[in-house]
Amino acid sequence: MAKRRETMSNLPKLPELLHRKIYKTGQTRGADDDVIYQNRVSRNSTVLIPLNEWKHIHAFGHIDFDNGYIVLLPLGLQRESELRQLNLTLGENCLYFYETRQEWELYNPSKRQWHFATSRIAPLGGQYVARIPATTAREDGGKINLGFTDTKSKGAGIRWYEYASASTIEQCRLQLEAIYWHCFDAEEAVIKAGMSQNNARTRQQRILQKCKETGLLDYEKLIQARILNSAHQTVCPLCLEPISGKGFMTRIAQAEGREIPDLTITEVSLFHIVELRSGEFNHRPYNLGWGHHHCNVVAKDAGIMPTLIWLKSLLDRNLKNGVKIPAPPKDQ
Ligand SMILES: [Zn+2]
Repeated sequence: MAKRRETMSNLPKLPELLHRKIYKTGQTRGADDDVIYQNRVSRNSTVLIPLNEWKHIHAFGHIDFDNGYIVLLPLGLQRESELRQLNLTLGENCLYFYETRQEWELYNPSKRQWHFATSRIAPLGGQYVARIPATTAREDGGKINLGFTDTKSKGAGIRWYEYASASTIEQCRLQLEAIYWHCFDAEEAVIKAGMSQNNARTRQQRILQKCKETGLLDYEKLIQARILNSAHQTVCPLCLEPISGKGFMTRIAQAEGREIPDLTITEVSLFHIVELRSGEFNHRPYNLGWGHHHCNVVAKDAGIMPTLIWLKSLLDRNLKNGVKIPAPPKDQ
């Protein structure tokens, strides 16, 4: 491991925007202040697992999480014996999660001498965590956020299906950089962003070599997954248009009034071929490509094929209703 790091750190540096874009693939998405999730942290952070989903995970046997897990129990009486059968111990690897004012009143933690939790690693320092939204319906209706609220380490953990181990994160970063180097203008784009041609070639060669040594960059799988086309060029997994390396290094024009403070949003974004959803670990090398930001927004929740079916029905219906759709510009 140490040897590999040394080899990687000797490589010529990528332009900053490209480097950050690849680096950030190892982090979770942003989270609001009032939710239980951590904001943009490593995908190998402590995972939060709802009790119902834990029952399935537990049935499949032991899963190693780099930084452990916390099972979130719904309010209501969980029998000690049931928890024991599921290998759960309150305050060690599970917590009650208060989400509504009604739960707070019915099962008030002070009546049970419970404390809010303070640690993501066992012992958790308490038995519960609360994120109850404010209500204007009553005078004492302020929000109740307790446990993991420190500015520096807000949030109890990450969504468990966003999880990837440190080694998977590294593999994904390596393969995603290799996919960048398959853009039709990859070299031109990094040179334009300040890298010398020599450095660009050295880095590209070493990254592709590294992928081969670690069993990555299986072209058949990448084509199958719509990450590369048959000419081994990087394409957007939804629209299949070849992706320009320049899209990794330009900031996207943001719709007026909807500016997002993070100015590093570029035209190209990380694309999960099978979307991240509960029940599966989908942050893995052959499920990740680079796509247009806009295509990603469209396909994100439904997935690629359902989105294509929807787009087709939308076009068909327009054509059936006599709408004349002009041909797209030539270079599309
Ligand atoms: Zn696209």
